[in-house]
Amino acid sequence: MTTIFAKIVRGELPATILYQDDLVTAFRDINPIAPTHILIVSNKVIPTINDLTDDDERVTGRMMTVAKKLAEAEGIAANGYRLIINCNRHGGQEVFHLHMHLVGGRPLGPMVLR
Ligand code: 5GP
Repeated sequence: MTTIFAKIVRGELPATILYQDDLVTAFRDINPIAPTHILIVSNKVIPTINDLTDDDERVTGRMMTVAKKLAEAEGIAANGYRLIINCNRHGGQEVFHLHMHLVGGRPLGPMVLR
């Protein structure tokens, strides 16, 4: 299975890559909703968070620690930010390749629409 994000991970599609290691890749969202909007994706294609297994805990843990480091690097750690993983239709997921949004740089308002 391949996805648009898998092509970015492999360097086959352009993106502003900020970080990459053996488990995850982070790059700027093409359509940012805030001054900082970074996607942290699993290198391996995992379609949704529903598809995670216990064997993926290193990947999901790495996504969190990379988010923390990128927030510091972006200068948004002290003011705060939001980490978002959308899942399936109600979650508004558009790309079926596990990714975490790191969003910040301005007040983000309520957590979800009411
Ligand atoms: P989702 O709704 O699946 O959680 O979020 C998908 C995100 O991927 C969206 O914020 C969208 O702007 C971003 N995106 C979609 N295609 C591309 C792309 O080709 N490059 C980059 N950098 N971001 C993309």
